[in-house]
Amino acid sequence: MSLYDIRQNQRISKAQTENKRTARTVQESQESIEELRQSVQKLSLACQAMWQLLQTTSGLSEQDLLEALQNIEDKNAAQNCVKCGRVQQSKKPHCLYCGTPFPEEASTISCFQV
Ligand SMILES: [Zn+2]
Repeated sequence: MSLYDIRQNQRISKAQTENKRTARTVQESQESIEELRQSVQKLSLACQAMWQLLQTTSGLSEQDLLEALQNIEDKNAAQNCVKCGRVQQSKKPHCLYCGTPFPEEASTISCFQV
């Protein structure tokens, strides 16, 4: 076996080790995503159950819920700075990080897609 072959075998072995490590990372990430998906599903069901109870006991309407969601969304409106890209959770006229002014109707990230 030549030195070239030995070096190539080392590279192949290293690539195979890296491939196994990457496959493990992908598997762990997929498991984490599935756990998060299940958590979101449970929270969604809990929200639906609470809303159902609240509607029947308080008489609140779907419109009341939408308005409350909109109020929260307005308070938590996030803005992305066009210059530095950082996200801020409050409606400020300027970026807190770089000072770039936000446009009048800054794009907001919706927290609630109803
Ligand atoms: Zn900025």
